[in-house]
Amino acid sequence: MTLVVLETGACSDVGQIRQSNEDALLLDDPVFAVADGMGGARAGEVASAMAVAALHGLSESSQSLAEAIEGANGRIFEASHEDPSLLGMGTTVTAVLVHESTLVIAHVGDSRAYLYRAGELRQVTDDHSLVGELVRRGEITPAQAERHPQRSVITRALGADIGVEVDVIRVPAEPDDVLLLCSDGLSGMVSDPELARIMKSAKSLDEAARELVRAANAAGGEDNSTAVLLRVGVRSEADGAAPVERAPVVILPATALTVGPADDQTGPDDSTPQPAPVRRGRFVMFAVVACVIGIACAGLLAAGLHWVHFIGATPGGQLGVYQGLPLELPNGIALYRVVAISSVPIAVLSVDQRTGLLNQQLGSRARAQGEIDSLVTASPWLQQPQGSG
Ligand code: MN
Repeated sequence: MTLVVLETGACSDVGQIRQSNEDALLLDDPVFAVADGMGGARAGEVASAMAVAALHGLSESSQSLAEAIEGANGRIFEASHEDPSLLGMGTTVTAVLVHESTLVIAHVGDSRAYLYRAGELRQVTDDHSLVGELVRRGEITPAQAERHPQRSVITRALGADIGVEVDVIRVPAEPDDVLLLCSDGLSGMVSDPELARIMKSAKSLDEAARELVRAANAAGGEDNSTAVLLRVGVRSEADGAAPVERAPVVILPATALTVGPADDQTGPDDSTPQPAPVRRGRFVMFAVVACVIGIACAGLLAAGLHWVHFIGATPGGQLGVYQGLPLELPNGIALYRVVAISSVPIAVLSVDQRTGLLNQQLGSRARAQGEIDSLVTASPWLQQPQGSG
């Protein structure tokens, strides 16, 4: 039985906090992908764009999907070492190739693929993230992972090293299966049951994608969020004469597919209040309250807790020494700040090294720095090569 893609939907948005959207997406039947870039300035956008561009036009076997991702990894790694402004850039990629009756999924990082079948939503990919590893090892619960201060630290990415391990998962498909590919800005803000509820109630996949991204923004929109949806099915005899219309190719930038104003579905009823300004006002009020709490906590830290340090992962993916407590207030105010960044990328550490170092044990700055120093002394090859500048 050969299945074809009968419907697609996609949406992406910068969110409520970030200045730019570093997610990228690809709809190029039979290949679909989401990538979530990271790196200074605009480097994240470059990395995610390079990842999805490498998959554009693919059609062959499942092998070629993983090979294309490995090729993209090499190009991103080289580009980041040739251009100082791109140093340290990386990206996740979660892609699917619809091949006969199989969904071939290839995956690196913490973006996700979900299978929605008969009203049930199931995550197909493993998160290559610090908290994902801790959950799989039974050291923290999924609920703890959701508010973990280092939930955004990923342990595998394209561009981090000369080679990359790509997870390939083959899912035998059934007619009416829907696959959801999304960045962590969606799955991190919206719970799995809520994702399923939104997908169930939407009348089309485009509507579902829009509503999913809107839900991420309503929950705080802490990150860029992107959703790509596709539904597979059997081409009926009646359709046989007129082949299913191939969906138009959509390729980056994700910014081009934002949710738009929240009122675009409202009818001609002028008396309907506009929800957007109310939400914005409430958001500002939350921000003010959070700032007051943040300042109070910062005062406490300054007064008595400034000597507390722990080892953590920096936003750029390196081992760093943090001052403060590994905690975040509900509105995202961090009770910690980075005081020293090492040249050791998290991605090159073994699982044991990572869990040993990033256990958030509190101590003096000297102890934290000493642990990193002894790791570098024992394994100098772990350090990232420095740029020529
Ligand atoms: Mn993200």
